[in-house]
Amino acid sequence: KANRKFHPEDTVVDCGHGVLVGGGNFQVIAGPCSVEGKGLIDIARAVKRSGATMLRGGAYKPRTSPYSYQGMGEKGLDILLEASAELDMPVVTEVMDPRDVQLFLDKGIDVMQIGARNAQNFPLLREVGKTRTPVLLKRGMSETIDELLMGAEYIMSEGNPNVILCERGIRTFETRTRNTFDVNAIPVVHHLSHLPIIGDPSHSTGYTRYVRPAAYAATAAGADGLEIEVHDNPSQAWSDGAQALTPAQFDDAMRRIRVIREAICQD
Ligand code: PEP
Ligand code: MN
Repeated sequence: KANRKFHPEDTVVDCGHGVLVGGGNFQVIAGPCSVEGKGLIDIARAVKRSGATMLRGGAYKPRTSPYSYQGMGEKGLDILLEASAELDMPVVTEVMDPRDVQLFLDKGIDVMQIGARNAQNFPLLREVGKTRTPVLLKRGMSETIDELLMGAEYIMSEGNPNVILCERGIRTFETRTRNTFDVNAIPVVHHLSHLPIIGDPSHSTGYTRYVRPAAYAATAAGADGLEIEVHDNPSQAWSDGAQALTPAQFDDAMRRIRVIREAICQD
């Protein structure tokens, strides 16, 4: 179902609030790694002002250590939805457990994110596949592109055609960055599949200083959008502060991203 051979037309995913991804529609998802409380609205207002069209924030966090902050849970979803209503922006947030999918539906979460660590959690993929809610499926950290596409197939085979893929970097021998950004995956997925694919320069690099160059590379490679972590006080962030852009850095990034989009959309 994800194969371009059988579906030559680009899929356009309707994320709600009038926001479309794919088929020439480019969207930027921005916000903090974790929802940390009511302060989310300040970050949300800032990213919207700079041109972000979707808001992100994790309420259920897949942390490496069980002793690290695990997220605000349902309260975090409510805070996201309040910001979404005020700013008329769809929200993207991670679901980790098939038992939480119904809660996400009841709350009206616009886009369910499947994180890299769950990219091959087949029961979870099937569960979100039984809904019609758009799914942002991130590439697993040791997944091939074909395995990523098979993950999409799990979702689509249950009846949900609304899948957006995300290249978020893969694990290699390189240690200077958190992951290695496989920018090639963007044109390769476009060749093999009709599904949209966005780039995540934050988890791909792991360091604020490299996020903007990676964002520009993904945009130039034809990504259908970007997901970027933004925090108004990165040194105090509860997770992933080292890779967060400040609102001012995000604003600068957005100016250049718009220029790159214009340049590559000439033909
Ligand atoms: C995230 O988006 O905050 C996240 C945990 O990403 P990934 O699953 O790509 O590591
Ligand atoms: Mn993160």
